[in-house]
Amino acid sequence: MTENAGQTSITNDADAAETTPLEQTRRRYTDVMMGSAPPPLRKLVRGEGCHVWDADGNRYLDFLSGIAVNALGHAHPVLVEAISKQAAAVAHISNYFASEPQLALAERLQRLTGAGAQGRVYFGNSGAEANEAAIKLARRHRPEGTLVALHNGFHGRTVGALSITGKPMLREPFEPLLPGVEHIEPTVMALESAFDAKQPVSAVFLEPIQGEAGVVPLSDEFVQAARRLTTEHGALLIVDEIQTGAGRTGDWFAYQHHGIVPDVVTLAKGIGGGVPIGAMVTFGEASELFKVGQHGSTFGGNPLATAVGDAVLAEIERAGLVENARRRGEQLREAVLGIQHPMVSEVRGRGLLLGVALAAPHATAVANRALELGLIVNAANDTSVRLAPPLIVGDAELEEFTRLFTRALEAAA
Ligand SMILES: *Cc1c(COP(=O)(O)O)cnc(C)c1O
Repeated sequence: MTENAGQTSITNDADAAETTPLEQTRRRYTDVMMGSAPPPLRKLVRGEGCHVWDADGNRYLDFLSGIAVNALGHAHPVLVEAISKQAAAVAHISNYFASEPQLALAERLQRLTGAGAQGRVYFGNSGAEANEAAIKLARRHRPEGTLVALHNGFHGRTVGALSITGKPMLREPFEPLLPGVEHIEPTVMALESAFDAKQPVSAVFLEPIQGEAGVVPLSDEFVQAARRLTTEHGALLIVDEIQTGAGRTGDWFAYQHHGIVPDVVTLAKGIGGGVPIGAMVTFGEASELFKVGQHGSTFGGNPLATAVGDAVLAEIERAGLVENARRRGEQLREAVLGIQHPMVSEVRGRGLLLGVALAAPHATAVANRALELGLIVNAANDTSVRLAPPLIVGDAELEEFTRLFTRALEAAA
């Protein structure tokens, strides 16, 4: 195609198809972006509340929230003000210095997680980095021990986090990964035999709800057995709440739903509301494992990211959004089941992290149809549509969702 599109008159359908703005975006994307990402679905230009707009002016109801990140939705005044104010004060200072936002967010996380005065907080910039910190902590705890993680679990793309990730498709191109990792099924029996092995267990990693696996919750029985066995054997229980944390499931953290207290919790996604931030919170003795100089990150815990994180969590508290996630989550589940589409076999998950299970592998078709209709949802796998709207979602958005999703499900007929 010609470069000077302004002078080109559209003469046939093939040319016209090739020069849509979206096609141009996709071509620029593949010409410059690393081939590790799939072609972009749309080019987005702005957002407001639970909606985003693309470069062609189309409006979408966002029920993915940048993968459970935009807890307050888009362009929330609290988020905008926190970013602007802190950027105008000081954005970055290095970890040779402390800042008020960093301390305030750490204190808030100490309180909300229940880690309390014995708890300690480490800040990184992503979920994977939070899990890298947790893996290093497990090594400090019991250097010779096994890291036990779950089949189908997802913990991030960096080499350590990938090593505990239980998806062969993601792992295999990069093997050999970290030695000493064992993946098990999420059953009490598998857990018991992992602890019966000759090699001691250093830590058990789990996601209370496996988001990337298609929103698959672990049972109370399993999570409680993991707590009991790790305590009995002196291993760490490390709970990855990167997707489930910060109120998304209708509790501040999903482990609270199971009535357990972990040794370590890793956080990211929702705690930043859109700015990159990750955190690891330790409980009790696990707080003593890192000595000065044993871990760190240049950007980690900088004033900009922590000011936004603290403002986002403060707004979730002030506006009662944890309770909203619980209540709206129930309504959303009822709404999906109420469509009574024969293809919907169940709705998994809790709060505003739900997986619509389809009876046949049509999740991508449904997500694509939804997008054409102006609704963003995500095919977490072939048979699961993931729903993770902003925590601010209300009646109007639930109604709009139900109307659009009913039509999108026709793609699965
Ligand atoms: C997204 C996610 C990660 C990785 O977080 P990144 O910020 O992408 O590195 C790890 N664990 C879980 C459960 C996640 O959902």
